[in-house]
Amino acid sequence: MADINNNSRPRREDGEVIVVGGSAAGLYTAAAVARGGRRVRVLESKPRFDPPDRTLIVTSHFRNQLGAAARESIINEIRRFELYTDGRSAQIALSKPDLIIERSRLIPALAREAEASGANLSFDTRFLGMGPNSSGLRLETETGGRREELHAASVVGADGATSRVARTAGWPPIETVPLMQAIVRLPKDCPADTTRVWFVPDDTPYFYWLVPESSERGALGVIGEQGSDTKRRFERFLERKHLEPLEWQGARIPVYRKWVPVRKRVGNGDVYLVGDAAAQVKVSTVGGIVTGFRGALGVAQSILHRGRSSELSALRRELSTHWLIRRTLHHFQQKDYSQLVDLLDASTRASLGEINRDESARLLWNVIRRQPQLVLLGLRGLLMGKRNS
Ligand SMILES: Cc1cc2nc3c(=O)[nH]c(=O)nc-3n(C[C@H](O)[C@H](O)[C@H](O)COP(=O)(O)OP(=O)(O)OC[C@H]3O[C@@H](n4cnc5c(N)ncnc54)[C@H](O)[C@@H]3O)c2cc1C
Repeated sequence: MADINNNSRPRREDGEVIVVGGSAAGLYTAAAVARGGRRVRVLESKPRFDPPDRTLIVTSHFRNQLGAAARESIINEIRRFELYTDGRSAQIALSKPDLIIERSRLIPALAREAEASGANLSFDTRFLGMGPNSSGLRLETETGGRREELHAASVVGADGATSRVARTAGWPPIETVPLMQAIVRLPKDCPADTTRVWFVPDDTPYFYWLVPESSERGALGVIGEQGSDTKRRFERFLERKHLEPLEWQGARIPVYRKWVPVRKRVGNGDVYLVGDAAAQVKVSTVGGIVTGFRGALGVAQSILHRGRSSELSALRRELSTHWLIRRTLHHFQQKDYSQLVDLLDASTRASLGEINRDESARLLWNVIRRQPQLVLLGLRGLLMGKRNS
C-alpha cells in the first residue's frame, strides 16, 4: 500500500476499527486496514453476505484494484460502445475492454478477502447510533433483536447513500437519484461485447443503456430524477424496444455535487465515510464501484498512517471533473445531443476509446484537443444550466 508523509506504524493495540456496512466499499476498506495491521470488525445488517443479483459495468481499473478472488466476479468484457440519439449513431472501439461484473459474486469474494486479511465479519448486526467515550467511540448496535454496546478507536461509515453513520456524526444528507435496470433477453442484433447508450433528453437528462451479461442476456437501465416518472418512461422505452423484463434491479444512487469531507472527529475518536455514503460516485455515468474502492483505499491510508491521503486528493479531482461533465450535459436538448454525436469524428472517437472514464481529466483534455468545437457545445450546456438553475 502507498505510504503517506508519516512514519507512525499501525499496531493491533491501537484500538479497533469498526466498519459499518459489508458491501463493496466497506469490505474493501476492511481488507486494506486489516492488511495494514489494525484490528477490524465489519458490521452488516443483512443476515448473510449474499446480496441479490446486480449487473455492473466498470472500467479496466477494476482489475488493478482487486485480488484474484474478486476478479472471479467478471462475467463479460465490453469492447465497443454504440451511442444513439435521434436516428444518429456513433461507435467507439475500446482499446482496453470494460468489464461486466456480477455483484452477487463480488461481495462474497470481497468478504473472503477481508477475512483472509484478518478482519472479523458480523452479519445480522445493525448500527443504531454512536457517541464519544473516554477512549474513543461507543456504538449502539442490535444483533438478532439484542442490543449491544461496542467500542472503537475509529468508525468507518460504508452504509450506503442513506448512511446512518453519517447522519449520527453530523454530515448533512446527500441527494440521490433513482437507478433502474431490467434484465432482458439480448436482442439478436446486439453483439455480446457491445454496450448501447441512448440519449433521450425528453425522457431523462441522463441516458438509457444496454449492457450485455452474455450472448443471451443484458441489463437495460436508466437513471432518472424522480422515481415514479422514471419507471413510467422506462416501461415505455422497454415497449418501444420490444424487450420483456425478466428481472428488476434498482436502488437510489448518490449525486456527487461537491466533495464530502471523509473524516470527522467525534470526542476522542475518528469517523470516516467511504463509497456511496460519501457520494463517491462518478456523477456523469453514476458508476460507484471503482471510485468507491478508491475512496476506501484513501480512508484506509488515512487510518493507517494518520495523515492525508494522496489517493483521496486524486479522487476528489476525478469526481469534480465528472461533476463538470454532468453540469455540461444535464441541460442538453435533442439538438445538442445530435450535434454532439455529429462532432464525434474518427480522431475524437479514438480518444474516447483509448482513455477510459476513470481518467476523466486526461480524457476531456484529449477529446477537446482533437475536436475544439466540443468546447463551444459544452459552454452552451453550462450556460443553459445556469439559466435554468
Ligand atoms: C441497479 C444498479 C446498477 C448499478 N450499476 C453500476 C455500474 O454499472 N457500475 C458502477 O460502478 N456502479 C453501479 N451502481 C452503483 C454501485 O452499485 C454503488 O455505487 C456501490 O454498490 C456502492 O457500494 P457501497 O459499499 O458504498 O454501498 P452499498 O452497496 O449501498 O452498501 C451499504 C451496505 O451497508 C449495509 N447497511 C446499511 N445500513 C446499515 C446499518 N445501519 N448497520 C449495518 N449495516 C448497514 C447495507 O446492508 C449494505 O450492505 C449501480 C447501482 C444500482 C442500484
